[in-house]
Amino acid sequence: MEERILHLIEEEIETWWLDVTDLKQYACCPRLIYYRYTWPTIRPLTLAMQAGKESHRAEAPLHEVRRSLRRYGLAEGERLFHQPLISRRLGLKGRVDLLIVSPSLAAPLREATIVEYKDSERQSQAHFMLQLAAYALMVEEELGLPIRGAFLYSLPLRQAEPVPLTRALRRRVETTVAAIRQSLQTERLPGPTAQQRRCPLCEFRRFCNDVV
Ligand code: SF4
Repeated sequence: MEERILHLIEEEIETWWLDVTDLKQYACCPRLIYYRYTWPTIRPLTLAMQAGKESHRAEAPLHEVRRSLRRYGLAEGERLFHQPLISRRLGLKGRVDLLIVSPSLAAPLREATIVEYKDSERQSQAHFMLQLAAYALMVEEELGLPIRGAFLYSLPLRQAEPVPLTRALRRRVETTVAAIRQSLQTERLPGPTAQQRRCPLCEFRRFCNDVV
C-alpha cells in the first residue's frame, strides 16, 4: 500500500483521460476546454502564465514543510507533495498539491487530508472546490483512504480554508466530467461563460465573437 501511494501510477495514461484542471477550467468557462482539446495547437501560453504555474509549484513545499499540521486539524501525519492520482471510473488524472496521510503511512487505520494551494486571496471559489472534490473521489477510489478533510490554502494570506465535501459537490464532479465528454464528442462549441467580465483578458478572446 505504501509503495502504491509513494510511487503511484506509472502506467500509461490514455490520451482521452481528462485532467482535474480541466474541470476547474470548465467551471470558469466551458469554452476553455473545448478550445484546448479541439484546437490544441492554438493555445498561446504566455510567459507570465508559465511563470505563475512554476512559482506556484515550487513555493508550496518549501513553505509547507516549515509549518505544523495543526492548521489542518491534525496532530500528526505524513506529507506527500504533488501526489499523482487517477480515477479509472471517471477517466480522470491529476496531481494534488499535498496529500497528508494520518496518523502515518505505516499505521493500520489511515485517513487522508488533501490540500490545494492557490495564489488567490478570495475564499470558496467554486472552481477550486470542484477540483478538491475531484481529488477526494480519486483518493477514495484509487488509494482506498477515507477523506478526513479538504483545504484550500491561500499562499498570499497563508491561511487554510476548510472545504466541506458535500454530496452535491461530489455529484458536480461527475456531471462536469460527463458534460465535458459530451461537448468534446459532439464537437459542439459550448455557450460562453456566465461571468463575461473574464473575457477581455482571456487568451481565446479573439475566437469568441459573441461576448463583450
Ligand atoms: S473569451 Fe470569454 S467566452 Fe470565450 S473562451 Fe474566453 S472566457 Fe470563455
